Amino acid sequence: MSLGLSRLSQISRLSRRLTACVPRRAVVALIAATAVLVTGPAVAAPAKARAATAQTSDRAAGFAAACPATGFISQGYTPGHNGIDVAADYGTPIYAVGDGEVTISGYDPGGYGQWIRILHPDGTTTEYGHMYQRDVQAGDRVTAGQQIALMGSEGQSSGPHLHLRVWVNVGTGVHTDPIPYLADRGVNMPCTPGSDPRPVPLEHPAESGRVVSARSADGRLEVFAAGVDGVHHAWQESVNGAWSDWEPLGGPPGSELAIGPNADGRLELFAINGDVFQHRYQLQPSGGWSGWESFGRGGRDIAVGANGDGRLEVFASGPDAVLHRYQTAPNGGWSGWEATGGGPANSRIEMEKAPDGRLEVFALNGDTFQHLYQTAVNGGWSSWQPFGTGGHDLTLDHNQDGRLEVFASGPEGVFHRYQTSPADWSGWEEFGGPADSQLTSQRAADGRIEVFAINGTTAQHIWQTAVNAPYGAWEPFGDGGTEITATANADGRIEVFGTNPTGVYHRWQTGFSTWSTWAWLNNTPGPGVN
Ligand SMILES: [Zn+2]
Repeated sequence: MSLGLSRLSQISRLSRRLTACVPRRAVVALIAATAVLVTGPAVAAPAKARAATAQTSDRAAGFAAACPATGFISQGYTPGHNGIDVAADYGTPIYAVGDGEVTISGYDPGGYGQWIRILHPDGTTTEYGHMYQRDVQAGDRVTAGQQIALMGSEGQSSGPHLHLRVWVNVGTGVHTDPIPYLADRGVNMPCTPGSDPRPVPLEHPAESGRVVSARSADGRLEVFAAGVDGVHHAWQESVNGAWSDWEPLGGPPGSELAIGPNADGRLELFAINGDVFQHRYQLQPSGGWSGWESFGRGGRDIAVGANGDGRLEVFASGPDAVLHRYQTAPNGGWSGWEATGGGPANSRIEMEKAPDGRLEVFALNGDTFQHLYQTAVNGGWSSWQPFGTGGHDLTLDHNQDGRLEVFASGPEGVFHRYQTSPADWSGWEEFGGPADSQLTSQRAADGRIEVFAINGTTAQHIWQTAVNAPYGAWEPFGDGGTEITATANADGRIEVFGTNPTGVYHRWQTGFSTWSTWAWLNNTPGPGVN
């Protein structure tokens, strides 16, 4: 490590006084949360691995970076200077280069003055020195481009500037030139903050349950809840904005719901109870809704997903087996109901789309857990395969690298199982968490999976500590309820909806690591959900 004191630069440009920076003198242990994975009596016996799903199991390399600060490069990365200096006026905002966790936010009077360190999902670390003000604390999760500080000249510094240092591996002390590091991640220095729009996350089918939410084509969230008197909905009146009043829609009372987007962006809603199966759809993208139309016979649960070519496909469980039907053209008409060759009776169903576009369906009842999958994009289906023993509820998600991950609840808590490669699954691993809970999951803006669980007495959540990485510990999320679902706002903030027999409440991220309190939508309880 080259931790020697750097020399005050003799170079002056643009008549600004320049600075040399003194690196931290004390090595502070990296504090990174690691999950404890307990393998134990699982929900399931190991299932036979299947071939071909995700594209890769490699960890994502790099990330989409954001400009750290406006200013000019007053000093580069040299043997005597372990970072770059970006010089501008006092109080110039400083932004996180990438998503990550703040591991240090502190004060070092002899060196950096006020400084911050952020660990990123790809294992690299960025460090920001000499600040006038810090806006984040150790343990905070931040997003690329989030303001973290104001530029100053504290510590060993002769004028206002940001000293930006990049660790390839903070544990082994290997650092690198920030300029090519940023260029590899899409930011060329000097840079203009806010000029590097982030890629839109991969979208997946919404899950099913008594409460579901999805984004309209224009980015506004819409939520549907199945009350004892039928289905009700409410919607954001502006993107990322406030909510409408609840509107009753009728439809099957006490139903299970599923919602998915047509190829043209029109949302379509499906509702089933023991007697009736109906659907309705937006008449135009982000527009009003059709009336209810018959879709089939009654059953236990449904799931909807979009084929690679955009055709919706629906699976429904009933007392005998699982059936499916599908659009015969994008946005078009529907096939008749077809058998799937069995499947768990009266099961809870969820489906996901692999990164290559093939759909995969998982079905769980009290006795068995099975799955089946498309053998080609837009193609036919495998036979049902064993996946585990019975349980209470399930939810699915993707890792950032495409590997599917499945979560199931039972009397002993939550268990999960994930692809270790495109062809192999881990065994079931015990997770802890609420017993016999309803489950939902959602990916954070940076690709980390977050799981939410609710039962009659408690709501809890748990999240990956880094992209494609293990999980931390369950943390309290609220009181008990009857159902839960999570979705993402257009700006990436997760929003969670919970239900109880009194109504529907929600809670949303106000930042990368901060949440609102629970509230009724638009201060109105809406439908009670049993
Ligand atoms: Zn410096």
